[in-house]
Amino acid sequence: MKTIPVKLKETAYQIYIQTGLIKKIGSFINNFQHSPKIIVISSHKILRLHGENLTSSLQRVGLNHETIAIRDGEHHKNLSTLKIVYQKLARLRTSRSSLLVALGGGVIGDIAGFVAASYLRGVPYVQIPTTLLAQIDSSIGGKTGVNLISGKNLVGAFYQPQAVFIDPNLLNTLPKKEIESGYYEALKYGIISDPKLYGLVIKQALKFSSHQNTSLYKIICKSAEIKARIVTQDERESHDRMTLNFGHTLGHAIEVATAYRKFTHGQAIGHGMILATQIAKQLGKISAAEGEKLQNDICHLAPLPRLNNLRWQSICRHMLSDKKFIDNRLKFILPRKIGKVEIVEGIPLAVIQTVVQKYLREIS
Ligand code: NAD
Repeated sequence: MKTIPVKLKETAYQIYIQTGLIKKIGSFINNFQHSPKIIVISSHKILRLHGENLTSSLQRVGLNHETIAIRDGEHHKNLSTLKIVYQKLARLRTSRSSLLVALGGGVIGDIAGFVAASYLRGVPYVQIPTTLLAQIDSSIGGKTGVNLISGKNLVGAFYQPQAVFIDPNLLNTLPKKEIESGYYEALKYGIISDPKLYGLVIKQALKFSSHQNTSLYKIICKSAEIKARIVTQDERESHDRMTLNFGHTLGHAIEVATAYRKFTHGQAIGHGMILATQIAKQLGKISAAEGEKLQNDICHLAPLPRLNNLRWQSICRHMLSDKKFIDNRLKFILPRKIGKVEIVEGIPLAVIQTVVQKYLREIS
Protein backbone atom coordinates (compact mmCIF):
# COMPACT_ATOMS: atom_id res chain seq x y z
CA MET A 1 0.00 0.00 0.00
CA LYS A 2 1.19 3.50 -0.81
CA THR A 3 0.65 6.05 1.96
CA ILE A 4 1.04 9.79 1.37
CA PRO A 5 0.88 12.17 4.33
CA VAL A 6 -0.80 15.55 4.05
CA LYS A 7 0.60 17.67 6.88
CA LEU A 8 -1.10 21.00 7.43
CA LYS A 9 -0.89 23.66 10.14
CA GLU A 10 -3.97 22.58 12.03
CA THR A 11 -4.49 19.03 10.89
CA ALA A 12 -2.85 16.08 9.19
CA TYR A 13 -4.18 13.06 7.37
CA GLN A 14 -3.13 10.21 5.14
CA ILE A 15 -3.91 9.29 1.57
CA TYR A 16 -4.01 5.49 1.24
CA ILE A 17 -3.64 3.97 -2.23
CA GLN A 18 -4.11 0.26 -2.87
CA THR A 19 -6.00 -1.89 -5.35
CA GLY A 20 -8.88 -3.63 -3.56
CA LEU A 21 -8.76 -1.12 -0.70
CA ILE A 22 -12.53 -0.60 -0.68
CA LYS A 23 -13.01 -4.01 0.89
CA LYS A 24 -10.85 -3.04 3.87
CA ILE A 25 -11.98 0.52 4.51
CA GLY A 26 -14.15 -0.51 7.49
CA SER A 27 -11.16 -1.54 9.56
CA PHE A 28 -9.26 1.65 8.68
CA ILE A 29 -12.20 3.80 9.72
CA ASN A 30 -12.63 1.72 12.86
CA ASN A 31 -9.03 2.48 13.80
CA PHE A 32 -9.33 6.21 13.78
CA GLN A 33 -12.98 6.94 14.41
CA HIS A 34 -15.23 5.09 16.81
CA SER A 35 -18.22 6.74 15.30
CA PRO A 36 -21.70 5.81 16.43
CA LYS A 37 -23.06 6.65 13.00
CA ILE A 38 -21.61 6.60 9.51
CA ILE A 39 -23.41 8.25 6.64
CA VAL A 40 -22.36 7.37 3.12
CA ILE A 41 -23.09 10.12 0.59
CA SER A 42 -23.07 8.86 -2.98
CA SER A 43 -25.22 8.43 -6.09
CA HIS A 44 -27.55 5.55 -7.00
CA LYS A 45 -25.24 4.53 -9.83
CA ILE A 46 -22.06 4.43 -7.74
CA LEU A 47 -23.83 2.66 -4.89
CA ARG A 48 -25.06 0.02 -7.35
CA LEU A 49 -21.53 -0.48 -8.69
CA HIS A 50 -19.43 -0.23 -5.53
CA GLY A 51 -21.70 0.32 -2.53
CA GLU A 52 -21.87 -3.33 -1.49
CA ASN A 53 -18.08 -3.67 -1.11
CA LEU A 54 -17.96 -0.60 1.08
CA THR A 55 -20.98 -1.34 3.25
CA SER A 56 -20.01 -4.97 3.88
CA SER A 57 -16.54 -3.81 4.95
CA LEU A 58 -18.21 -1.42 7.44
CA GLN A 59 -20.54 -4.15 8.68
CA ARG A 60 -17.69 -6.62 9.16
CA VAL A 61 -16.20 -4.38 11.83
CA GLY A 62 -19.57 -3.61 13.39
CA LEU A 63 -20.00 -0.06 12.06
CA ASN A 64 -23.62 1.03 11.48
CA HIS A 65 -24.25 3.09 8.41
CA GLU A 66 -26.98 4.98 6.59
CA THR A 67 -26.90 5.99 2.95
CA ILE A 68 -27.84 9.22 1.19
CA ALA A 69 -28.04 8.91 -2.60
CA ILE A 70 -27.97 12.18 -4.52
CA ARG A 71 -28.11 13.04 -8.20
CA ASP A 72 -24.78 12.89 -9.91
CA GLY A 73 -23.40 15.27 -12.54
CA GLU A 74 -21.97 18.77 -12.57
CA HIS A 75 -25.38 20.42 -13.08
CA HIS A 76 -26.51 18.95 -9.74
CA LYS A 77 -23.53 20.41 -7.87
CA ASN A 78 -25.66 23.25 -6.57
CA LEU A 79 -27.52 24.74 -3.62
CA SER A 80 -30.66 22.64 -4.26
CA THR A 81 -28.71 19.41 -3.81
CA LEU A 82 -27.13 20.77 -0.62
CA LYS A 83 -30.57 21.48 0.80
CA ILE A 84 -31.70 17.91 0.13
CA VAL A 85 -28.63 16.48 1.86
CA TYR A 86 -28.93 18.79 4.90
CA GLN A 87 -32.57 17.76 5.37
CA LYS A 88 -31.70 14.07 5.14
CA LEU A 89 -28.88 14.49 7.66
CA ALA A 90 -31.31 16.15 10.05
CA ARG A 91 -33.78 13.28 9.63
CA LEU A 92 -30.97 10.81 10.35
CA ARG A 93 -30.11 12.72 13.54
CA THR A 94 -26.55 13.28 12.43
CA SER A 95 -24.31 14.63 15.16
CA ARG A 96 -20.79 16.06 15.27
CA SER A 97 -19.51 12.63 16.24
CA SER A 98 -20.99 11.05 13.11
CA LEU A 99 -18.71 10.43 10.14
CA LEU A 100 -19.65 11.33 6.57
CA VAL A 101 -18.21 9.18 3.81
CA ALA A 102 -18.04 10.68 0.31
CA LEU A 103 -18.18 7.83 -2.20
CA GLY A 104 -18.03 9.19 -5.75
CA GLY A 105 -16.36 11.43 -8.28
CA GLY A 106 -15.40 15.05 -7.81
CA VAL A 107 -19.01 16.21 -7.82
CA ILE A 108 -20.06 13.95 -4.93
CA GLY A 109 -16.77 14.68 -3.13
CA ASP A 110 -17.13 18.46 -3.43
CA ILE A 111 -20.78 18.39 -2.29
CA ALA A 112 -20.23 15.94 0.59
CA GLY A 113 -17.13 17.85 1.68
CA PHE A 114 -19.02 21.13 1.80
CA VAL A 115 -21.91 19.49 3.65
CA ALA A 116 -19.35 18.17 6.17
CA ALA A 117 -17.84 21.66 6.50
CA SER A 118 -21.14 23.38 7.08
CA TYR A 119 -23.60 20.98 8.74
CA LEU A 120 -23.54 21.55 12.52
CA ARG A 121 -20.53 23.81 11.80
CA GLY A 122 -18.42 20.81 10.93
CA VAL A 123 -18.77 17.02 10.86
CA PRO A 124 -15.75 14.78 10.13
CA TYR A 125 -15.61 13.12 6.73
CA VAL A 126 -13.50 10.85 4.56
CA GLN A 127 -13.13 10.73 0.80
CA ILE A 128 -13.41 7.56 -1.28
CA PRO A 129 -12.91 8.89 -4.82
CA THR A 130 -14.31 6.75 -7.64
CA THR A 131 -13.13 8.61 -10.76
CA LEU A 132 -9.57 9.09 -11.96
CA LEU A 133 -9.98 12.84 -11.67
CA ALA A 134 -11.18 12.57 -8.08
CA GLN A 135 -8.45 10.07 -7.14
CA ILE A 136 -5.65 12.32 -8.36
CA ASP A 137 -7.10 15.72 -7.61
CA SER A 138 -10.43 16.67 -6.09
CA SER A 139 -10.43 14.32 -3.08
CA ILE A 140 -7.12 15.74 -1.84
CA GLY A 141 -6.62 19.15 -0.26
CA GLY A 142 -9.94 20.00 1.32
CA LYS A 143 -11.41 22.33 -1.30
CA THR A 144 -15.16 21.76 -1.13
CA GLY A 145 -18.13 23.57 -2.61
CA VAL A 146 -20.90 23.97 -5.13
CA ASN A 147 -21.61 26.06 -8.21
CA LEU A 148 -23.92 29.00 -8.71
CA ILE A 149 -25.43 29.84 -12.09
CA SER A 150 -22.99 32.75 -12.18
CA GLY A 151 -19.88 30.67 -11.64
CA LYS A 152 -18.16 27.47 -10.59
CA ASN A 153 -17.43 26.67 -6.96
CA LEU A 154 -18.51 30.13 -5.82
CA VAL A 155 -19.90 28.76 -2.54
CA GLY A 156 -17.41 26.63 -0.65
CA ALA A 157 -14.98 26.08 2.18
CA PHE A 158 -11.54 24.70 2.86
CA TYR A 159 -12.30 21.67 5.01
CA GLN A 160 -9.92 18.77 5.19
CA PRO A 161 -11.00 15.12 5.28
CA GLN A 162 -9.87 12.68 7.98
CA ALA A 163 -8.43 10.40 5.31
CA VAL A 164 -8.54 9.71 1.57
CA PHE A 165 -8.92 6.09 0.44
CA ILE A 166 -7.94 5.47 -3.18
CA ASP A 167 -8.74 2.13 -4.77
CA PRO A 168 -7.73 2.05 -8.47
CA ASN A 169 -10.01 -1.02 -8.92
CA LEU A 170 -12.99 1.33 -8.73
CA LEU A 171 -11.93 2.77 -12.08
CA ASN A 172 -12.73 -0.53 -13.85
CA THR A 173 -16.36 0.57 -14.20
CA LEU A 174 -15.56 4.13 -15.27
CA PRO A 175 -16.54 5.10 -18.83
CA LYS A 176 -13.63 5.84 -21.21
CA LYS A 177 -14.62 9.50 -21.47
CA GLU A 178 -14.26 9.89 -17.70
CA ILE A 179 -10.85 8.19 -17.65
CA GLU A 180 -9.78 10.62 -20.37
CA SER A 181 -11.13 13.48 -18.29
CA GLY A 182 -8.74 12.42 -15.51
CA TYR A 183 -5.81 12.28 -17.93
CA TYR A 184 -6.13 16.03 -18.55
CA GLU A 185 -5.72 16.76 -14.83
CA ALA A 186 -2.83 14.27 -14.62
CA LEU A 187 -1.18 15.97 -17.59
CA LYS A 188 -1.65 19.27 -15.76
CA TYR A 189 0.53 17.99 -12.90
CA GLY A 190 3.17 17.03 -15.45
CA ILE A 191 3.08 20.49 -17.02
CA ILE A 192 3.23 22.38 -13.74
CA SER A 193 5.91 20.31 -12.07
CA ASP A 194 7.02 16.95 -13.46
CA PRO A 195 8.19 16.29 -17.04
CA LYS A 196 8.51 12.53 -16.27
CA LEU A 197 4.87 12.31 -15.23
CA TYR A 198 3.98 14.28 -18.37
CA GLY A 199 5.63 11.61 -20.55
CA LEU A 200 3.98 8.80 -18.61
CA VAL A 201 0.49 10.30 -19.05
CA ILE A 202 0.97 10.80 -22.80
CA LYS A 203 2.14 7.18 -23.19
CA GLN A 204 -0.66 5.78 -21.02
CA ALA A 205 -3.36 7.79 -22.82
CA LEU A 206 -2.17 6.53 -26.20
CA LYS A 207 -2.29 2.86 -25.30
CA PHE A 208 -5.39 3.24 -23.11
CA SER A 209 -6.27 -0.50 -23.39
CA SER A 210 -6.67 -1.33 -19.73
CA HIS A 211 -7.46 0.65 -16.60
CA GLN A 212 -5.69 -2.00 -14.59
CA ASN A 213 -2.03 -1.53 -15.16
CA THR A 214 1.04 -0.36 -13.39
CA SER A 215 1.40 2.87 -15.39
CA LEU A 216 -2.02 4.03 -14.28
CA TYR A 217 -1.18 3.12 -10.68
CA LYS A 218 2.04 5.15 -11.00
CA ILE A 219 0.15 8.10 -12.48
CA ILE A 220 -2.29 8.05 -9.55
CA CYS A 221 0.49 7.84 -6.94
CA LYS A 222 2.66 10.52 -8.55
CA SER A 223 -0.24 12.93 -9.12
CA ALA A 224 -1.53 12.45 -5.56
CA GLU A 225 1.98 13.11 -4.24
CA ILE A 226 2.26 16.35 -6.20
CA LYS A 227 -1.16 17.52 -5.04
CA ALA A 228 -0.32 16.63 -1.41
CA ARG A 229 2.99 18.49 -1.63
CA ILE A 230 1.47 21.64 -3.09
CA VAL A 231 -1.43 21.67 -0.63
CA THR A 232 1.00 21.18 2.26
CA GLN A 233 3.00 24.21 1.08
CA ASP A 234 -0.04 26.42 0.57
CA GLU A 235 -3.31 25.12 2.00
CA ARG A 236 -5.33 28.30 1.37
CA GLU A 237 -4.12 29.03 -2.16
CA SER A 238 -2.21 32.20 -1.45
CA HIS A 239 0.49 31.35 -3.98
CA ASP A 240 1.85 27.89 -4.91
CA ARG A 241 -1.57 26.21 -4.91
CA MET A 242 -2.69 28.63 -7.62
CA THR A 243 -0.49 26.73 -10.07
CA LEU A 244 -3.01 23.87 -9.83
CA ASN A 245 -5.38 26.22 -11.65
CA PHE A 246 -3.40 25.90 -14.90
CA GLY A 247 -6.04 25.70 -17.64
CA HIS A 248 -8.85 26.46 -15.19
CA THR A 249 -9.45 30.19 -15.80
CA LEU A 250 -10.77 29.67 -19.33
CA GLY A 251 -11.68 26.01 -18.65
CA HIS A 252 -14.16 27.02 -15.94
CA ALA A 253 -15.56 29.78 -18.17
CA ILE A 254 -16.14 27.20 -20.94
CA GLU A 255 -17.89 24.85 -18.50
CA VAL A 256 -20.22 27.59 -17.24
CA ALA A 257 -20.86 28.98 -20.73
CA THR A 258 -22.03 25.51 -21.81
CA ALA A 259 -24.19 25.04 -18.69
CA TYR A 260 -21.92 22.20 -17.43
CA ARG A 261 -23.44 19.83 -19.98
CA LYS A 262 -21.19 19.69 -23.00
CA PHE A 263 -17.77 18.91 -21.54
CA THR A 264 -16.44 16.83 -18.71
CA HIS A 265 -14.42 18.93 -16.27
CA GLY A 266 -11.19 17.47 -17.68
CA GLN A 267 -12.17 18.22 -21.29
CA ALA A 268 -12.94 21.86 -20.43
CA ILE A 269 -9.56 22.06 -18.68
CA GLY A 270 -7.99 20.52 -21.80
CA HIS A 271 -9.29 23.45 -23.87
CA GLY A 272 -8.26 25.83 -21.08
CA MET A 273 -4.68 24.45 -21.08
CA ILE A 274 -4.39 24.85 -24.85
CA LEU A 275 -5.62 28.43 -24.61
CA ALA A 276 -3.26 29.24 -21.71
CA THR A 277 -0.39 27.84 -23.81
CA GLN A 278 -1.40 30.05 -26.74
CA ILE A 279 -1.52 33.10 -24.46
CA ALA A 280 1.95 32.16 -23.14
CA LYS A 281 3.19 31.95 -26.73
CA GLN A 282 1.67 35.30 -27.55
CA LEU A 283 3.39 36.90 -24.55
CA GLY A 284 6.71 35.20 -25.25
CA LYS A 285 6.58 33.25 -21.99
CA ILE A 286 7.24 29.92 -23.72
CA SER A 287 9.31 29.17 -26.81
CA ALA A 288 7.34 28.64 -30.01
CA ALA A 289 8.61 25.05 -30.33
CA GLU A 290 7.81 24.05 -26.73
CA GLY A 291 4.42 25.77 -26.97
CA GLU A 292 3.64 23.93 -30.19
CA LYS A 293 4.60 20.56 -28.68
CA LEU A 294 2.52 21.19 -25.56
CA GLN A 295 -0.50 22.20 -27.59
CA ASN A 296 -0.24 19.16 -29.86
CA ASP A 297 0.18 16.79 -26.94
CA ILE A 298 -2.88 18.19 -25.14
CA CYS A 299 -4.90 18.07 -28.37
CA HIS A 300 -3.99 14.45 -29.01
CA LEU A 301 -4.35 13.17 -25.46
CA ALA A 302 -7.98 12.24 -26.16
CA PRO A 303 -10.72 13.51 -28.47
CA LEU A 304 -11.76 16.98 -27.31
CA PRO A 305 -15.34 17.99 -28.19
CA ARG A 306 -15.41 21.11 -30.34
CA LEU A 307 -16.44 24.51 -29.06
CA ASN A 308 -19.28 24.91 -31.60
CA ASN A 309 -21.59 27.87 -31.05
CA LEU A 310 -19.51 29.32 -28.25
CA ARG A 311 -18.85 33.03 -28.40
CA TRP A 312 -16.08 35.14 -26.95
CA GLN A 313 -18.64 37.40 -25.24
CA SER A 314 -20.04 34.49 -23.27
CA ILE A 315 -16.64 33.04 -22.34
CA CYS A 316 -15.40 36.50 -21.34
CA ARG A 317 -18.43 37.21 -19.13
CA HIS A 318 -17.95 33.94 -17.25
CA MET A 319 -14.19 34.34 -17.04
CA LEU A 320 -14.67 37.72 -15.38
CA SER A 321 -17.02 36.26 -12.75
CA ASP A 322 -14.55 33.49 -11.88
CA LYS A 323 -12.98 33.44 -8.41
CA LYS A 324 -9.59 33.95 -10.01
CA PHE A 325 -10.60 37.44 -11.19
CA ILE A 326 -9.59 39.37 -8.09
CA ASP A 327 -9.73 43.16 -7.67
CA ASN A 328 -10.26 43.57 -11.41
CA ARG A 329 -7.08 41.64 -12.12
CA LEU A 330 -7.08 38.29 -13.87
CA LYS A 331 -4.57 35.73 -12.69
CA PHE A 332 -3.43 33.28 -15.32
CA ILE A 333 -1.13 30.31 -14.86
CA LEU A 334 1.05 30.20 -17.94
CA PRO A 335 3.51 27.48 -18.98
CA ARG A 336 7.19 28.41 -19.34
CA LYS A 337 8.18 24.88 -20.37
CA ILE A 338 7.01 21.35 -19.58
CA GLY A 339 7.45 21.08 -15.80
CA LYS A 340 7.36 24.82 -15.03
CA VAL A 341 4.58 27.40 -14.92
CA GLU A 342 4.34 31.04 -13.86
CA ILE A 343 1.53 32.98 -12.19
CA VAL A 344 0.94 36.02 -14.39
CA GLU A 345 -1.25 38.98 -13.47
CA GLY A 346 -2.61 41.83 -15.49
CA ILE A 347 -2.65 40.28 -18.96
CA PRO A 348 -4.46 42.73 -21.27
CA LEU A 349 -7.96 41.50 -22.07
CA ALA A 350 -7.26 42.21 -25.75
CA VAL A 351 -4.53 39.53 -25.77
CA ILE A 352 -6.90 36.94 -24.29
CA GLN A 353 -9.66 37.98 -26.69
CA THR A 354 -7.42 37.61 -29.75
CA VAL A 355 -6.27 34.14 -28.69
CA VAL A 356 -9.76 32.89 -27.78
CA GLN A 357 -11.42 34.25 -30.92
CA LYS A 358 -8.78 32.69 -33.15
CA TYR A 359 -9.17 29.35 -31.35
CA LEU A 360 -12.97 29.50 -31.65
CA ARG A 361 -12.63 30.09 -35.40
CA GLU A 362 -10.16 27.24 -35.80
CA ILE A 363 -11.97 24.53 -33.89
CA SER A 364 -15.66 25.31 -34.30
P1 NAD B 1 -18.18 13.47 -11.67
O1 NAD B 1 -18.11 13.43 -10.21
O2 NAD B 1 -19.30 14.22 -12.31
O3 NAD B 1 -18.18 11.98 -12.23
C1 NAD B 1 -18.24 11.77 -13.60
C2 NAD B 1 -19.23 10.66 -13.96
O4 NAD B 1 -18.66 9.41 -13.61
C3 NAD B 1 -20.55 10.74 -13.23
O5 NAD B 1 -21.57 10.44 -14.16
C4 NAD B 1 -20.47 9.61 -12.21
O6 NAD B 1 -21.72 9.02 -11.92
C5 NAD B 1 -19.61 8.61 -12.91
N1 NAD B 1 -18.84 7.75 -12.02
C6 NAD B 1 -18.13 8.10 -10.93
N2 NAD B 1 -17.44 7.05 -10.48
C7 NAD B 1 -17.73 6.01 -11.27
C8 NAD B 1 -17.29 4.66 -11.34
N3 NAD B 1 -16.37 4.19 -10.51
N4 NAD B 1 -17.80 3.87 -12.30
C9 NAD B 1 -18.70 4.35 -13.21
N5 NAD B 1 -19.12 5.62 -13.22
C10 NAD B 1 -18.64 6.44 -12.27
O7 NAD B 1 -16.85 14.09 -12.31
P2 NAD B 1 -15.34 14.14 -11.85
O8 NAD B 1 -14.58 14.33 -13.08
O9 NAD B 1 -14.99 13.05 -10.93
O10 NAD B 1 -15.26 15.48 -10.98
C11 NAD B 1 -15.46 16.75 -11.54
C12 NAD B 1 -15.71 17.73 -10.41
O11 NAD B 1 -14.57 17.81 -9.57
C13 NAD B 1 -15.98 19.13 -10.89
O12 NAD B 1 -17.11 19.62 -10.22
C14 NAD B 1 -14.77 19.91 -10.48
O13 NAD B 1 -15.05 21.25 -10.23
C15 NAD B 1 -14.37 19.16 -9.24
N6 NAD B 1 -12.97 19.36 -8.86
C16 NAD B 1 -12.71 19.68 -7.57
C17 NAD B 1 -11.41 19.83 -7.15
C18 NAD B 1 -11.13 20.13 -5.71
O14 NAD B 1 -9.97 20.40 -5.36
N7 NAD B 1 -12.13 20.07 -4.84
C19 NAD B 1 -10.34 19.63 -8.05
C20 NAD B 1 -10.65 19.27 -9.37
C21 NAD B 1 -11.97 19.13 -9.76
